[in-house]
Amino acid sequence: MRIFDDNGLMIFPSQILRELRESTKVVVVQACYCPRGHNLINDKAQFSEHGGILLRVRDAELREGLVALSPIYGDKSRISLGLRLEKGDVIKLLCPECGVPLPVYDECSCGADLIALFTRPVPDYGNCIGICNRVGCYNAELKNGNELLTLANLEEYTG
Ligand SMILES: [Zn+2]
Ligand SMILES: [Zn+2]
Repeated sequence: MRIFDDNGLMIFPSQILRELRESTKVVVVQACYCPRGHNLINDKAQFSEHGGILLRVRDAELREGLVALSPIYGDKSRISLGLRLEKGDVIKLLCPECGVPLPVYDECSCGADLIALFTRPVPDYGNCIGICNRVGCYNAELKNGNELLTLANLEEYTG
């Protein structure tokens, strides 16, 4: 698969985006931050016309690589660079800018951790995205003030 376009941008055509568009319930993460306020959205990882969420990852053997996640909530597209991720592995997620580990926010139902990506430049667990750090587990939550959006209730989400 061709990963980079002529400008060095990552290409990741997203099938689910079209499906979500048709249902008019698209939630796109516009910004998310490490605990020190670095924006994790990176235009060099493109998912359709949206910048992806770029994270540094570290496996149990302390090997490091990068993972780009789709910023479209509910889209399971992700791409890893420099590290072969095995399904079921639990990985550490770090800020690619400063290397700070992203904090654990809750326990995932699979037994791994939900990691918080803050949707504001200041750490606030009331406004964050929780994503599971187990490869192959796509549990994710979006906390927006009093609202809790999980993949299970995306269907009912009309905001
Ligand atoms: Zn950082
Ligand atoms: Zn999980």
